[in-house]
Amino acid sequence: MFGRAPKKSDNTRYYEVLGVSKDASQDDLKKAYRKAAIKNHPDKGGDPEKFKELAQAYEVLSDPEKRDIYDQYGEDALKEGMGGGGGGHDPFDIFQSFFGASPFGGGGSSRGRRQRRGEDVVHPLKVSLEDLYSGTSKKLSLSRNVICSKCSGKGSKSGASMKCPDCKGSGMKVTIRQLGPSMIQQMQHPCNDCKGTGEAINDKDRCPQCRGEKVVQEKKVVEVVVEKGMKDGHKIKFPGEADEAPDTITGDIVFVIQQKDHPKYKRKGDDLHVEHTLSLTEALCGFQFVLTHLDNRQLLIKSNPGEVVKPDQLKAINDEGMPIYQRSFMRGNLYLHFTVDFPDSLSLDQCKALEAVLPPRTSAKLTDMELDECEETTLHDVNIEEEKRRKQAAQAQEAYEEDEDMPGGGGQRVQCAQQ
Ligand SMILES: [Zn+2]
Ligand SMILES: [Zn+2]
Repeated sequence: MFGRAPKKSDNTRYYEVLGVSKDASQDDLKKAYRKAAIKNHPDKGGDPEKFKELAQAYEVLSDPEKRDIYDQYGEDALKEGMGGGGGGHDPFDIFQSFFGASPFGGGGSSRGRRQRRGEDVVHPLKVSLEDLYSGTSKKLSLSRNVICSKCSGKGSKSGASMKCPDCKGSGMKVTIRQLGPSMIQQMQHPCNDCKGTGEAINDKDRCPQCRGEKVVQEKKVVEVVVEKGMKDGHKIKFPGEADEAPDTITGDIVFVIQQKDHPKYKRKGDDLHVEHTLSLTEALCGFQFVLTHLDNRQLLIKSNPGEVVKPDQLKAINDEGMPIYQRSFMRGNLYLHFTVDFPDSLSLDQCKALEAVLPPRTSAKLTDMELDECEETTLHDVNIEEEKRRKQAAQAQEAYEEDEDMPGGGGQRVQCAQQ
């Protein structure tokens, strides 16, 4: 291995593999490949490695862009940026796109055409809490692509197709960017003209129904069953109902439930929460009210005799929450969160009347002597947000003033802070 001369960039091997000269025309290449590929096809007992090599050589040389790169920079330049796969296509794909179908009948080798899987079509489905409580079904009209019935997805009257002139039938195009004097970057992307199929259809031969598109739009009505207790984000699938395309396994239509907000009920998992405001009298002396449930049942909600409800208190009614999905005979709980609406002020007479019936004051009455020793204070109403704003403004002002001081006193201030 020592002393070997640095390897010259190899840009002749592909020509040798196909047995053509460096200035061979596209036609020459085609003829040479056809002859060699049939002779070496593994189905006919040919050497698979040799066949693969032939396909690789032809793939590169039949594409003017790739051939140009190969002639200038050799094989290695093509291996980079070819999409990780290290060589682009399965040789059988090229063979088949070249001949249309295997010349050996029976659809060729078992590795034949790989079927792509079509994309799933995802639709959000807004559902009210009432419908998630009781269950419902919704009929939705969708439009989707289906294989054209007139041409069975061939796109042509005769069933024939030709190679896309833009990508020479490879379905892919290569873009080259010069990154530096000896560096190029290649990007491979599906051909726009033929949408990556590598096929084109003669204008006169176009199927009149799909105009060569192979698919037509169809309106379809689907019935989506929303079951009791389904949650936000639940997926309802219609397998194989998405857009059809030739040589493609049709994807699914997927509906994703989006639970709409309810003005009264909040859902937490399988439980429901309701806010309810009581007057002070109701909180102290008892209450009853009617709550309309999500299925329009009227629930009578009432306190126990003598019971007092405190502000912010939480109470629950068992089994009046959401039905549990697929076990809809079971339900979560219904929680009531009480707010007590206190009066803003009371008259002296009202105070006296209340004091007569309410439990006594907790703080003992102060003597005059004790009062003398105290400092008077004033309580005022607080708006937390307002307080916060004021504090921030004050801090900002302080910081600004410190900055102003910096040239003279800044150093000293830092020293102080370190002590
Ligand atoms: Zn058609
Ligand atoms: Zn194309």
